[in-house]
Amino acid sequence: MSNYKHILLAADFSRHGLAVAERAKDLANLYQAKLSITHIVDNLVTMDMAYEPSIAYDFDLSAELMASAKNHLSKLADQFNIPENQRWLEIGNPKMEIVRIAEENQADLIVIGSHGRHGLALLLGSTANGVLHHAKCDVLAVRLQNDD
Ligand code: AMP
Repeated sequence: MSNYKHILLAADFSRHGLAVAERAKDLANLYQAKLSITHIVDNLVTMDMAYEPSIAYDFDLSAELMASAKNHLSKLADQFNIPENQRWLEIGNPKMEIVRIAEENQADLIVIGSHGRHGLALLLGSTANGVLHHAKCDVLAVRLQNDD
């Protein structure tokens, strides 16, 4: 099997995120691979909230969420020395966007957590499951335990 050349870390900024990022970084070092990072602002969340009638403020919620996500992404990427041109912040369906970004940038390994913000109710979280089903490249789901 040939070495991985381009690893894509899918980051959701959950409390497990650091463990997933560390595994991606270790693998990038091991394979001398390029490491990129992506975060997707879930458009279901922005749509749900944008149509919530109790929100009285007239502001662009998507822009607010994007700004906050950009801040988190910068911090995490800086921490793991991921250059600016290897950071992908998008808005959409997380699993489909992660797969698209991997394909468009010829990533040959996607590293995700087995679970994220949605907790451990499922054996495998829905984003992780979707990426595993749709990705054309290898996917490593970092097993996160209850107490991680
Ligand atoms: P989930 O399937 O939502 O429990 O999340 C599993 C893993 O998918 C997380 O640990 C992240 O690695 C990744 N992930 C989930 N949501 C996102 C997102 N919005 N953007 C990027 N990666 C995500």
